[in-house]
Amino acid sequence: MLTETTLQDQIDAQRDDRVRILIIGAGIAGLTLAALLRKQGLHPVLIERMPRMDHPGYMLALMPTVDPALKDIGVHDAYLKSSTPLARYSFRSHRGKTLRTDDLGALLQVHGDYQGIDRGALIEVLTTNGCPVSFGTTVTRFDDGHVTFSTGAQTSFDLVVAADGIHSRTRDLFDVGDVSTVDTGWAGWVTWSEVLGDDPALGEELWGDGFFLGVYPVKDRLGVFLGGPVGDLDIGPSAFAARVRDAAPGIDARLRAALDAVSAEPDPYLWPLTDVRAERWLTGSDAGYAVLLGDAASGFLPTAGIGAGMAMESAWILGRMLAHADRSNLGALLAEWERVQKPRVESAQSNSRMLAKLMFRRGRIIAWLRETAMRVMTVRSVLGPIIRLVAEQPDPDEVAKRVLSGR
Ligand SMILES: Cc1cc2nc3c(=O)[nH]c(=O)nc-3n(C[C@H](O)[C@H](O)[C@H](O)COP(=O)(O)OP(=O)(O)OC[C@H]3O[C@@H](n4cnc5c(N)ncnc54)[C@H](O)[C@@H]3O)c2cc1C
Repeated sequence: MLTETTLQDQIDAQRDDRVRILIIGAGIAGLTLAALLRKQGLHPVLIERMPRMDHPGYMLALMPTVDPALKDIGVHDAYLKSSTPLARYSFRSHRGKTLRTDDLGALLQVHGDYQGIDRGALIEVLTTNGCPVSFGTTVTRFDDGHVTFSTGAQTSFDLVVAADGIHSRTRDLFDVGDVSTVDTGWAGWVTWSEVLGDDPALGEELWGDGFFLGVYPVKDRLGVFLGGPVGDLDIGPSAFAARVRDAAPGIDARLRAALDAVSAEPDPYLWPLTDVRAERWLTGSDAGYAVLLGDAASGFLPTAGIGAGMAMESAWILGRMLAHADRSNLGALLAEWERVQKPRVESAQSNSRMLAKLMFRRGRIIAWLRETAMRVMTVRSVLGPIIRLVAEQPDPDEVAKRVLSGR
């Protein structure tokens, strides 16, 4: 559970910590890191811009990259109870017919769990052991570890972690080089459907001619994503859903209910399908360092379903490496964390960019060619780069020891 705490109380609590850490953003990466550091007896100061956590949330399919973090925090069982296995994946033609169904669970189970969870439920799981936070607070200035908060308070930290998401404003306060972005020109509405259908462990995607429909199971309901080119969405969710119903007559009751759920929402949230990539993750000096974490460092398109998986992995590796940190070796550990983790995250991000080029397309010929290819491709080959990342997760203690022994 998140416990609202004053900024001053949080700062006082960390006075004797071997490294004084500020985490900006109580999202997936920030909470994962906070929980790992608290397990080590540290008292990271955690701030969140929102006045409270009342976001309606969305679905997350989490790859096994998250398992080690959840196990270290001691909440893996709670996670399994709050989520649902994502055992199967169906690919549908642009007319709505199921072309193939793959056994994703079997493909990934050698590496760990592949689960669907609602973002709010994941936040509950990550804060099972309690987590102080100061809501309605941001950072307005960073100067070699010296931080000015939006409340006017000022103090110094050994490490400031910007985990404030894809639209990070804190990133602009740091010297992290160029921040590039890919804009697909598409966007999508996200909502929930209560109609689970016969197979509650089935995720489905329909890659249409100028639209995209996906349903992803979480515990007891389905997350729905309906997207299209930004200009086409001006007609509103209900008219766009009706257009998709006409264009894809092959869909069944489950997908029709998903479209109905989008139509029924008076004002569903529209996610722009853009991403970001920062040139550097680490800045600062011995006086005080700053790093970008999660989407603030590399914010993902949702196409490969791996953004949160990589954000949690980055937080886990950083958190475990910080178990070896004091003020004298912090800079070397952070530099090695960036050296090891940044290429992993960027390779997953490149995979999600490649998938976006396939998924977000207009034109029947393209749809037909894509479907012909998908009939013969194995899911292992499509997900190959992601599965390799999952299989080759680094050991953070080894990485830290390598730095400290000068190897
Ligand atoms: C529709 C959708 C579907 C997705 N599906 C998947 C999926 O299936 N699988 C997957 O792995 N990933 C998925 N993702 C990606 C995933 O949600 C992100 O990669 C993940 O949430 C990143 O975690 P984060 O902590 O970096 O950012 P966030 O979880 O976005 O958290 C950032 C936090 O920082 C706070 N904040 C913002 N600005 C400030 C500020 N200035 N000061 C203080 N706090 C601030 C925000 O309020 C928020 O609480 C999806 C994303 C979307 C949008």
